[in-house]
Amino acid sequence: MVAATQKDGETWYQCDECGMLFDSKRDAKAHEEYCDTDSPSYLQ
Ligand SMILES: [Zn+2]
Repeated sequence: MVAATQKDGETWYQCDECGMLFDSKRDAKAHEEYCDTDSPSYLQ
């Protein structure tokens, strides 16, 4: 999930999974595709 946040008068997009910030929603969404904190291998 990507959350929009205001910082220094600009809108940033934060990845809810790892907290990383992006200055474009497109970049944030692209990152989210690869950010997989609940990968099945972690539970094994
Ligand atoms: Zn992430």
